[in-house]
Parts: sequence; structure tokens; C-alpha cells
Amino acid sequence: MLTCAGCSYGLSGERQKGHIYYRCHTRSCPITGVGEDAIHGALWSRLFPLELSVAEAAELEDQIAQAGGELAQSRDELVHALDLKLKSVESRLARLTDAYLDEAVDRAIFEQKKLSLLLERKSLEDQRRLAIQGDPREINNLRDNFELLKMVPLTYGLGNPDENREIVKTLTSDLLVQPKNVVVKLHSPFEEIANIGFVRSGGALRRRLRTVPRSRVPRIFRILTRHAAEQAKEAECAECPASLAV
Ligand SMILES: [Zn+2]
Repeated sequence: MLTCAGCSYGLSGERQKGHIYYRCHTRSCPITGVGEDAIHGALWSRLFPLELSVAEAAELEDQIAQAGGELAQSRDELVHALDLKLKSVESRLARLTDAYLDEAVDRAIFEQKKLSLLLERKSLEDQRRLAIQGDPREINNLRDNFELLKMVPLTYGLGNPDENREIVKTLTSDLLVQPKNVVVKLHSPFEEIANIGFVRSGGALRRRLRTVPRSRVPRIFRILTRHAAEQAKEAECAECPASLAV
């Protein structure tokens, strides 16, 4: 998983006196290698800003639940509106049939009107079915990424090497070995969240007066929401027939 900044090839690990050392095997490359501890250190310092405090996690959980609630509510409203339209189609069908039986309309007009009402009913029923199934993708993505954020950075280093490797795979997109350090780049949205850092308001004086750090929660929520929407859109595009033609 480690890429050499000198030659862009992968580094390979080897054990030396109980320590694991990753070495670049390109002969002319100025970068020789890096020890496992340096990699752990680089990962730790990059994953540390992702760690949510208990209060932050609770606040985010509330906001996500609220977003899910709003989505469900707008779905309920849509289903209700479709139900009203369906009722109206049913009563028009009944009135049309009555008019035909009373011989107020002739057969050709009856058949024509009936067909158009049946088509309208079919379309409304389809819309209703879609609305009930809903597309929970966006809110599910939001929850999934939040769960990852809540759990994964904390568990790095605690598990066995396989588990740690999974965490690194899940969270990081690049591990670049440079002569003096290891640059860790994370996958979206974790990279953006790690970049927020802990923003304190004001300078030294204000910090003394107001030691409470500015909340990261609104920014984290915005990043998570935007990412969830992008993921949902990508998934939708991947399913549509147009993408299969490409
Ligand atoms: Zn190299």
C-alpha cells in the first residue's frame, strides 16, 4: 500500500531484527525505505483529527436523525397527495360508469374516457409505489459514513494487522513515502474532515477569555451530507441505461 515518492513504485516490507522495514527496490531511487513505526506515526497523526468527542458524536447523530426524519416526512406528504388523486380518479370512474349506464354518454366516449382514467390511475399507482420504496440511499450513505467516522479512526492500532490493514484501506487513498516523512492522504469525506482541524476562535488573548473551541459539528455535517449526495448520484448514474452504453 506504500508508494515511493522517488520512483512511484510500491515499497515492499521485510522483517529486520524483529522490526518491519519497507524498502524501495528501484536501484537508482534516492529513497531507500521507511520503518513501520514512522508509518504508524504518520497514520496516527492523520487519523487523530477524525476522532469525534462524545458530545460531537451525539450532536451529529441528532442532526442525521433529523435529516432522516425530514426526508421521511416529505415522502409521507407525497404519498398522501397521491392518495387524494387516486381517490378522485376512482370517483370519476364511478361517475363515468353511472353516466354510461344511464345512457347519458355513448359507448365510444365511455370507452375513451375510461381508458384515459385507467391510464391515469396506473401512473399514479406507479408513482405511489416509488414514493413508498423511496430512495433512502442518500440518508443511508450519510449514516454509513458517520458510523465509519465514529468507529474506525478509534480502532486503528487496536486490532490485529489484518484489521489495521482494512482500516487503512477504508480510510486512506495514498501512502506516499518521502525522504523524511510519510504523507497520508485520506479518502473523501475523511480527508475534508481531517482538514478541518480544531479551530479555536481568536488569538492568544481571546483564547484565554474564551477557551471553548468552535464547534466542528456543522462543518462535519455539511461535508458528510454533501458526500452522501454525491455518492447517491454516482450510484444512480451507474444504474441508468445511458451509463451502460459508454
Ligand atoms: Zn523508489
